[in-house]
Amino acid sequence: EILERVFVDLADRSYTISIGSDLIPSFAELASDHLQSDRLFIITDENVAPHYLSPLLESCAAAHLHVETVILPAGEQTKSFSQYESLINRLLSYKPSRKDCLVALGGGVIGDLVGYVASSLLRGLPFIQVPTTLLSQVDSSVGGKTGINTKYGKNLVGAFYQPEAVFIDINSLSTLPARETLAGYAEVVKYGLINDETFFSWLEENGPSLLKGDKDLMAQAISKSCQSKAQVVSEDEREGGKRALLNLGHTFGHAIEAACGYDGTLLHGEGVSIGMCLAFEASVHLGLCPQEEADRVARHLKACGMMTRAADVPHTLEADTLVNNMAQDKKIEAGEIVFVLAEGIGKSLLVKGPDSQIIKTTIMRSL
Ligand code: NAD
Ligand code: ZN
Repeated sequence: EILERVFVDLADRSYTISIGSDLIPSFAELASDHLQSDRLFIITDENVAPHYLSPLLESCAAAHLHVETVILPAGEQTKSFSQYESLINRLLSYKPSRKDCLVALGGGVIGDLVGYVASSLLRGLPFIQVPTTLLSQVDSSVGGKTGINTKYGKNLVGAFYQPEAVFIDINSLSTLPARETLAGYAEVVKYGLINDETFFSWLEENGPSLLKGDKDLMAQAISKSCQSKAQVVSEDEREGGKRALLNLGHTFGHAIEAACGYDGTLLHGEGVSIGMCLAFEASVHLGLCPQEEADRVARHLKACGMMTRAADVPHTLEADTLVNNMAQDKKIEAGEIVFVLAEGIGKSLLVKGPDSQIIKTTIMRSL
């Protein structure tokens, strides 16, 4: 049953994100309008396959579709040149045509890799996303960024490539580890903080219930998040300006993630949660934002069980390390780091090269 629909309208393609319950078991029916041939390649990972591959395959069998399945290892390492190459070769061995469709069933790792393979295999095949983590549902399923990691950094090779359609089955969240759900929720909160105070207030009221498993509320939050990202992205598809607001909390967050050594002890969304608190605190110290607003952000995140301070991570961090890590961030213009700061909840803005001493003091207070 489809509960919500979000239309993503971009220069190179428009597509619909359908959000609802039991969409995986009715996949073939829902996808039929988007298929140009009766052949599908379903790519998933070893954690997702045991839960969701059978219902997807059954629906395809009932619709007489010809399906090949590839199950990849789970984890960020799968977004690599070597997995890219082996997936491309595996798919080529099936002699695909340019009308056959790839289906990405899994989290952001599968979505990013399969999207990039779809963009380049035979110079471009249609693909459909079935995101199964909250993060991939509210973030990577909108905007068309696909890609893999390199030894020089994450997401450095890829393409902007839009899917034919996205099907978000909220039932898939029932098997997602709670910690992963919370990490995805950080990005949901981010949309409220960027430009939608009303949504943030709604989350203050409903966040704890939706995290406990209220599906209708979850569907609404996902839909609102996708709409919000679609809006920002359609105004700035290739990241010239406004899209940078989506990095709220990410400059601080990435610095914390890097300091934790990407050893799995800190999830991306956990870094973002702390990072958003730091961005609001820094905004207070820079005289941009009232203290009450920063307190309100931290209060909500904490009430949901999220990390809000650099001291919350399971590592001893140094302020200098974090400051140095920030200087390495991708988002640097003419030698100055562009920070996403805020004048209040729902009032984010870009600030080039804010007072570095204030940034450092903000970090020290959070340690
Ligand atoms: P992920 O794909 O690694 O999934 C997290 C873990 O949950 C994995 O172990 C996975 O196997 C497991 N899993 C997935 N769905 C499950 C389910 N329903 N039940 C049980 N387990 C399940 O990670 P993620 O957080 O979804 O995505 C992170 C990736 O997304 C990063 O590589 C990041 O760069 C990328 N990303 C891309 C964009 C974009 O715009 N393209 C945006 C944000 C993030
Ligand atoms: Zn993020």
